[in-house]
Amino acid sequence: MLQLNRRKFVSLLGPLAASTLFKTGPNLILHNANIITVDPNQPKAQAIAIFGDRILHVGTNEEVLKLATTFTQLVDMGERTITPGFIDAHSHPASSGRRHLIDIDCSLDSIAEIKKLVREKAMTLEKDEWVFGFKYDDTKTSEGRYINIIDLDEAAPDHPVIINHRGGHTAFVNSKALKMSGINASTKDPNGGHIDRDPNTGDLTGRFLETATDLIKADRPRLTDQMYIDGVELISNMLAKSGITSIHDASGGIKDLDAYQQANKNGVLKTRIYNHIRGFQIYKMIAAGVSTGLGDKWVKVGPLKSVIDGSISERTARLSEPYIGSKDDYGILVSDPEDLYTLCRDAHNAGWQIGVHSNGDVGIDITLGVFERLQKESPKKDPRFRLEHCTVINDSLVKRIAALGAIPCPFSTYVYWHSEKMKFYGAERLNNMFALRSFLDAGIRVTQTSDYPPGPYEPMMAIQSSVTRVGYDGQLWGPNQRITVEEAIKIGTLNGAYASYEEHEKGSLEAGKLADLVVLGSDPTQVDPMTIIDIPVMKTMVGGQWVYVV
Ligand SMILES: [Zn+2]
Repeated sequence: MLQLNRRKFVSLLGPLAASTLFKTGPNLILHNANIITVDPNQPKAQAIAIFGDRILHVGTNEEVLKLATTFTQLVDMGERTITPGFIDAHSHPASSGRRHLIDIDCSLDSIAEIKKLVREKAMTLEKDEWVFGFKYDDTKTSEGRYINIIDLDEAAPDHPVIINHRGGHTAFVNSKALKMSGINASTKDPNGGHIDRDPNTGDLTGRFLETATDLIKADRPRLTDQMYIDGVELISNMLAKSGITSIHDASGGIKDLDAYQQANKNGVLKTRIYNHIRGFQIYKMIAAGVSTGLGDKWVKVGPLKSVIDGSISERTARLSEPYIGSKDDYGILVSDPEDLYTLCRDAHNAGWQIGVHSNGDVGIDITLGVFERLQKESPKKDPRFRLEHCTVINDSLVKRIAALGAIPCPFSTYVYWHSEKMKFYGAERLNNMFALRSFLDAGIRVTQTSDYPPGPYEPMMAIQSSVTRVGYDGQLWGPNQRITVEEAIKIGTLNGAYASYEEHEKGSLEAGKLADLVVLGSDPTQVDPMTIIDIPVMKTMVGGQWVYVV
């Protein structure tokens, strides 16, 4: 067994590295641990031997300690729980890192507090300079209404202000911002967007939905290359703290790819990146001969990213039945299905994986139609089409997803964190939302995702939310979709690796794989599921190096 594992491992290394290995053995052994491996051949283990950035062996204390040489550092883990590093398969790390550097963080309990910060920020800026805010959440503020143009005019009459909802699909602006963007009450709704108006007066409320947000000509300060790198460094540190070792950047662009590479070269990147390429930027990449998978084990080119419909947290996802409390609000389709097809076809034919933001059942149906058409016209052996979010499903959609071998990437922390918004969907519809049980039962390799900023990214919250289906407020939503802790861990590790074609490299703790792992304060399979969120992350390792130690 030992020889076989060594051989398997050595075959992954060059001859020079292999000779070093036999001289020195593992440089690190973690033993006396409670290891959840996510390897079906050996689900539990006690010790793990690491050489360089790879796992050499996983097994009992006795087996693994036998490998030690005088050069091996032995660490007694005091029976702490170890899992593979978590993989967040849909998030927005580069852009949110930059926003954490520059914008006001509006995840506050009241509109009054947001106004105070806007006022303070405006005082530090020149006249006409824009005030930016993000992570505003309308259902988390005590006033029980949207922040509006009057609020923002009061806070900053002489500065244009734009506050983005944490869901990222709607924006809230003041009069100065409207004036500087040339928008007034007679401006028409663009295709795929909506400008909110007071139903009685017709006046603009300052709320812009979906493509209407593009009408706001916010002049972001010109960012230096160093600021892009600083944003990556900041978010990477935040992720390491939570136990996330790999992340898929779902709104990445060419510039982000560059920032990740520079951060990696500078030695400040602590998270492995799978960088989606957004919309039409893909054509530049195709012209340069680039496609999905180019890169290394730290920074890799991901799929094409496109979008068909709106957001769950902002209630713009396109549904077949209206939102609860409305007769005619079905949400928004933001792309023309034929345009979506053309973009996806060009990427598919150039060797790209494809991920389409598809939230509502109507949006998912359209996207699956595009994927089915592509496979009919130019079949690809292992396309691993991705349905980014894939929130509201039904039996027929699940069957089509399974038939295509497509990968849903649903929000993992929403049931817990956005519980108060679930009333807009209703208890019945929740039986078919974030539908992990349905996906697993159909043999679909669903992933764990935060979509941060829209959802918190902490993996322990994701596991608790998926296992209990209980919100922070005690509300139970769609208990039929509950899964086990073991299933949730696999979704958050190995399935994430599969979604980036890297299941042979990471996602479980087995010989030959990258040494990416997390040390937890207690075992999530043993505690009350309602307390998983309280389990502290003690240490995070990426490529054999501790990147976070409590
Ligand atoms: Zn997203």
